[in-house]
Order: sequence, then structure tokens, then C-alpha cells
Amino acid sequence: HQNRLIHPCHTPKLATKFCPNLSTTLRDPTLAFPNNLTLHTVRERNPAVWAGGSQPWACTPMQRVAVLIPHRDREQHLTHLLAHLHPMLQRQQLHYTIYVIHQTGDFMFNRAKLLNVGFLEAMKDVAWDCVILHDVDLIPEDDRNLYLCGQQPRHLVVGRNFTGYKLRYKGYFGGVTAMSAQQFRDVNGVFQTSSGGGGEKMMSYGRGNFYVGMKVDRPPAEVARYTMIFHDRDEHGNRINNERVALLYRPREVMYSDGMNSCRYKLLSRTVNPLYINVTVNIGTDKEL
Ligand code: UDP
Ligand code: MN
Repeated sequence: HQNRLIHPCHTPKLATKFCPNLSTTLRDPTLAFPNNLTLHTVRERNPAVWAGGSQPWACTPMQRVAVLIPHRDREQHLTHLLAHLHPMLQRQQLHYTIYVIHQTGDFMFNRAKLLNVGFLEAMKDVAWDCVILHDVDLIPEDDRNLYLCGQQPRHLVVGRNFTGYKLRYKGYFGGVTAMSAQQFRDVNGVFQTSSGGGGEKMMSYGRGNFYVGMKVDRPPAEVARYTMIFHDRDEHGNRINNERVALLYRPREVMYSDGMNSCRYKLLSRTVNPLYINVTVNIGTDKEL
């Protein structure tokens, strides 16, 4: 069961040495977003990717990493993200699998809840050491931005093209973050209930630090750079429930009652595609589930 996601040709026993801290195969990626890019083409360009991921032949990585992408109705973004992530993660010599957590139906999009679902579902495959919570529209620009976890939760987006590569604000913890499985469990996953817009202010940086005792690490600014694929604001009130910041910065009262332990969902399908594992769920409305 544990090895279900490992390519049958891989014989991990051969690689007795751990991978180096910095892979020697990193390079400057080329960023391109052709309109006609298809999953089929991405697949052809990444023959070593299997069941949504890959692992290096030559060495054993210190961590096993699950990339969790919350998704609805952003197919073209997803294609571009996969086109860039797979080559980079292979160059980083990671053992990784990409999960796309797809919300069905017309209810308000709930990024937070999908991430909790993704964590719970991914852990059924492999005891991942590290999870990367990844927006579908952010493309990493620098191979040295390693998709690995550390002693503290890591926020991998210091800057993006749209904001002049500057941090949005000090407590910002959205976009792309890396948490060890232990850290994710320690904070009971992601705060998933809509806070009606006021939530982000309530979850101030200081309180989060105080209660959870975790600080956020960031890679150097010249490394933690992303290109955001342009999109219009979504209609039908998606944004209200789209909790970004509240992962760590929430008061203790809600931390243990609202999160992974209150995450109810109906799993509709789970398919293993070459480029990602698709988990389709009905997460209902907050009232129902
Ligand atoms: N998302 C999605 N479909 C939606 C709304 C959001 O797939 O209708 C996911 C997607 O991964 C996206 C993330 O949630 O990158 C954050 O939403 P959005 O990009 O709208 O927020 P922004 O960061 O641009 O404020
Ligand atoms: Mn976005």
C-alpha cells in the first residue's frame, strides 16, 4: 500500500545515499504560457512522471512531499502550473506527488477546506513528511525555491510579478506554503469557516505567534519569486470564504474546533492520472457539513 505511488521500474534500494542539500541539476527555468498548451503535451515532456509525481534514481531524498492544489474551474491555469512544476520538482530531486483537490457544485469555493481534504486524502497513500499548499495560478520562477519543509512553516512567496516582487504585508501566509505533516497537524490544518471578511484582521500576526508558537520562515526574496497567471476576480462571492491567512494566525478558541478535525466531505472520485492525482469532493455548505 505504501508503495502504490512509486513507479514500478524504480528500485529505491539502489540509492543508498541521501540527496544533497542542493540538487546539482537546478537551472534557470524558462517561463512560457502558450494558449494552446494541453495536458497531453505536458505529459509528453515529462516521461519520468508517473501517478502524479516522481522520485530521483540516484539518491534518496530526506523528505517525501505532497503538493496540494485546491481547484475549480481553472483548467488552463492547472495545465500551465503542471507544465512548470513537474520539471522543477524533478530538477530539485524530490520524491513528490501532486494532488488536485477539485470542488464540485456551485457552492462558495472553500480553499481552506479543500486543503484539509487534500491532506487527509494524500495521507492515505503515503505518510508524506511535507505538504505544499499551492494556489493554481502561481508559477515559481526560481529552481532554488526548494519545495521542502523546515523547522517552521515556510511561506514560499515573497514576491510576485504583479506586486513588484514585494511581500504583500508582514503576516501574509498565502499563495504557496510548506508545512511538515507534524506542523499541519499541530495547528489542526486550515481554518475553514467563513469569517465574513473580518477574519484576516482578527488573525493578527502576533496572536498567532503567541498561541501556536510557530514563526514563519521565508526563502530569500531573490529566490521566492512567482509569476501570477492573470485572472479576473471570480464572480459569485468566491472570495469571502477564501481564507488565506488564517492557517496559523487564529485564536486558540477556534483552532481546535474548526479545521482538519471538523472537516466533513463526500469523496466523489479519486483518479490517478499521469500528471496528478485527482480528488473530487462535495464539501457542501458550511451549514450542511
Ligand atoms: N481557486 C479555484 N477556483 C476558484 C477560486 C479559487 O481553483 O473559483 C483556487 C485556485 O487554486 C486559486 C486559489 O484558490 O489560485 C486562490 O484563489 P484566487 O486565485 O482567486 O485568489 P487570489 O490569490 O488571486 O486573491
Ligand atoms: Mn489568484
